[in-house]
Parts: sequence; C-alpha cells; structure tokens
Amino acid sequence: MEIMQNRLDREFQENQQQYEEAVLQTLRSGYYVLGENVTSFEKEFAQYIGSKYAVGVASGLDALWIAFRVLGIGVGDEVIVQANTYIASVMGITINGAVPLFVEPDAFFNLNSDLIEKEITSKTKAVLVVHLYGQAAQMDYIVEICRKYNLYLIEDCAQAHGAEYNGKMAGTFGDIGCFSFYPSKNLGAFGDGGAIVTDKKEINDFVRMFRNYGSDKKYYNKVVGANSRLDEIQAAMLRVKLQHLDIITQEHRVIANRYSTGIKNRKIILPEVRENATSVWHQYVIRCGDRDRLAEYLEQAGIRTTIHYPVPPHLSEAYSYLNYKKGSFPITEQYAKEVLSLPVYTGMTEDEQNYVIQKINEFI
Ligand SMILES: *Cc1c(COP(=O)(O)O)cnc(C)c1O
Repeated sequence: MEIMQNRLDREFQENQQQYEEAVLQTLRSGYYVLGENVTSFEKEFAQYIGSKYAVGVASGLDALWIAFRVLGIGVGDEVIVQANTYIASVMGITINGAVPLFVEPDAFFNLNSDLIEKEITSKTKAVLVVHLYGQAAQMDYIVEICRKYNLYLIEDCAQAHGAEYNGKMAGTFGDIGCFSFYPSKNLGAFGDGGAIVTDKKEINDFVRMFRNYGSDKKYYNKVVGANSRLDEIQAAMLRVKLQHLDIITQEHRVIANRYSTGIKNRKIILPEVRENATSVWHQYVIRCGDRDRLAEYLEQAGIRTTIHYPVPPHLSEAYSYLNYKKGSFPITEQYAKEVLSLPVYTGMTEDEQNYVIQKINEFI
C-alpha cells in the first residue's frame, strides 16, 4: 500500500462539483480581485471564528508581518515566540526589524507559558503564540501575562482553524489572529491565501487599507502599503471549504483518535491534548528516539511521513545573525530530532489508517 502524508485530491473529489461551480462563476463574473467573494468570505470567516472582523490577505506570512506592522512593532522591539515553530512565525517578526525572544515549548508542543515572564524586558512589546499542529495553547494564562505586562498578543493560527481553548476559538484571544489558507492547511485554498482576524475596528480598517497599497480610495495612498490581497477565485473556493470545515476537523479527530488508541509501541510517544484545549489535528505528531530509522522503515513500507520541523528557526541559516548555538534551546532541539508527522488527511480510508497503525506497531 502507498500512503502519502497528505492528499489534497481526496477532499477536492468529495466536493468537486461545488468547487468547480464556484470557480466557473468567478471566472464568468469578470471580477477577479477584491470583489464579492472576498467580502462574503471575510464575513463568513469572522463569524465562524467568533471575531468581529476578518481581512483577507495573500498568505499566512503576510498576515503575520502585517499584524506586527499595524501594531507598530519593529526596530528596537522584542517579541516573545516559541522556539519550535515554523520559520514563518519568526519571519513575521523579523521582517519588521523586531527581534524574536525564543521560549521553549511545553509537552503539548506549544509555548511553555511558565517561561514567558522571565524573558520580558523593557523592549518587549508582544507575545506571538503559535497554536502548533492544530492544538490551542494555554490561553488563559498567556492572556493574563500579556495584560499584566501590557504586551500585545498576536496568535499564529495557521495550523489551528477552529481549535478551542475553554470553548473559545484560536485567533480571538489576542489583538490579532493570523491565518494561512495554504493548500495543506485544514482550511486550505487552491493556492496561497491568508487572513487576519480582530475585534478592533482600527486594526481592521488599517489592514484593509494597507493590503491594497495603503489606499482606501483608489489612487489616494495614505501609507506605503503592500499588495497583499486574497483573490476572488481563492475566496470563492474557501467559501465552499468553510462549509465543510467542521466535517474536515471531525475527520481529522477520528483519525487522530484511531492512532492514539491503536498505536502501541514502547519506542513511541503519542501526542496529547491539554485539559480545556482542543486540537483540530492539522498534524498528528509522534516522538521517537529512533526517529530517522522509523521514518526510513515506514518509507520502505510505502508510508510517507514528514518532519515538522527538522531545523528550529534559531539554528537555521537565515537566523545565523542572531548568533544562537546548538544547545541554546535543548527541548526544541530534542523535538526537532524526535518528531514525526504521520499521514492525516480528509478522505483517508480505514484501511489506510489501519495499515499505518499496523506498520508502526511492528517497528522494533
Ligand atoms: C503555514 C504556516 C505559516 C505561513 O503561512 P503561508 O500561508 O504559507 O505563508 C505561518 N505559521 C505557521 C505556524 C504555519 O504553519
């Protein structure tokens, strides 16, 4: 059996007719950028997440760096972020000239909130929380710290569409929630896309202007902005997918549950979910001291896995200028050596799931 780590074609096939109609209608409408579909998607997405506003942008990375730009966080400022994240989280900070202050993760792969306070200096302006792999971080405590020290709170929800903490969705705890609609995400478009969500009208208004060359009114430009617009075809497709997102999430949960009850191998540590938190299981990430051999063994059995992520940002070439060394963040570095993401995707058959479980249980 051949099993890919992700299969975008399966979900497409389940709802093919709706997607095709949405694209054709958009093509025939004659409006391709910032039209009816973007406006409607923004409303529908804000409503789904439980925020007042959503603004479509061109990618998750754009959502992040524009979020920091709107808040005026840049040169001379510091932002606290977990060390074990996708590098885009960190780039969102550094594109603006701000400095990341890395914090080690907890056992749930999220920011260890006990470690935030001791990092705060007079230059610290914000905390960027990443709801990694689809699980909401410990938001009550993080919100409290941000209030206490008067820090902005930005949430990277690129992997966590619909994840909840205490019944409230990721993206609604802080000043700004940043989403990606990259195709492999749970709410993935058919190309690039992203959004910011917020309850604050000033932020909504500024991002709307900023994403379109800094203009509210055509050819009258208030600030040096960006071209970062969600396009109509992606918005039309996202409107369709949003209607199926609860089913998509549910399917991911069923698969994760099968793995968690079916996988029994002493060499493997299974992922867990924090009390009061939910996961939308964007990834199902196991840990194994013998990870590379396990990945190779699964590959031989036809099962593709992925490592999210092999190089932590502080050790990546891009951030060599921050002068971190191996050993700076031991937990993060250990995770980078041990994590392995198993196949999880909408439309994954029971046979496929059982095959993955069987092969992992046979690993010695
Ligand atoms: C995917 C991702 C991003 C970036 O999103 P793009 O749309 O690819 O730019 C940012 N942060 C995290 C945690 C991600 O997984």
